Amino acid sequence: MMQVLPTQSSANTKECPSPGRLIVLTGPSGVGKGTLMQALLKRHPELYYSVSVTTRSPRPGEIDGKNYYFISRSKFEQLVAQGEFLEWAEFAGNYYGTPREAVLNQVRSGKLVVLEIELKGARQIRSSFPSALSIFILPPSLDELEKRIRGRAQDPEEAIARRLRRAQEEIQAADEFDVQIVNDDLETALNAIEATLFG
Ligand code: ADP
Ligand code: 5GP
Repeated sequence: MMQVLPTQSSANTKECPSPGRLIVLTGPSGVGKGTLMQALLKRHPELYYSVSVTTRSPRPGEIDGKNYYFISRSKFEQLVAQGEFLEWAEFAGNYYGTPREAVLNQVRSGKLVVLEIELKGARQIRSSFPSALSIFILPPSLDELEKRIRGRAQDPEEAIARRLRRAQEEIQAADEFDVQIVNDDLETALNAIEATLFG
């Protein structure tokens, strides 16, 4: 239950990893974050992509340990209590969290570490790691976003409706981020992310 969990500010103490850097990639569900990430990792295998932990069920084709670590709610709550997450949040009825130790180790070893996470988690990271670079991916329009979510055809109708509602809230927070990139043409958006990271 949400009430019995510690607050979502487990990353409250200021931590200053160096010399690597945390990159936070956020944007509404269906905007193309996963697609952009895959392409980015192909071009830059030196990046470290943080595999999150979730209580959501795997979509067809998703692999445990690659896309996510899929675990039960009770196990997730246990990990929260043990302080194992750098940040965590509830999204559309499921929990999602970033494993603390793996990420901090990679940052300490000098890597650019990319977290692909939703808004509440991104806010936690930005307050704990002011040196993190935060990027918000915007859709060309809400209509196009809905098309993409439906086109993915992997979420139940009720989840699609929730994700669209949440998307509108998230998009309003885009200005909080260091950089905003519209994912209209994939290649153009990818180049813009590259220019932000390496330019
Ligand atoms: P997210 O990870 O943000 O939830 P996905 O990467 O799963 O989004 O993308 C959602 C859908 O949108 C997928 O079917 C993907 O192929 C499609 N998509 C991603 N980027 C673009 C783009 N630039 N133009 C058109 N379709 C896109
Ligand atoms: P999906 O269920 O579509 O894979 O992900 C739903 C949302 O959860 C996306 O916005 C995604 O970026 C976000 N998400 C994935 N992993 C994490 C995480 O570890 N922490 C947080 N806060 N959000 C996450």
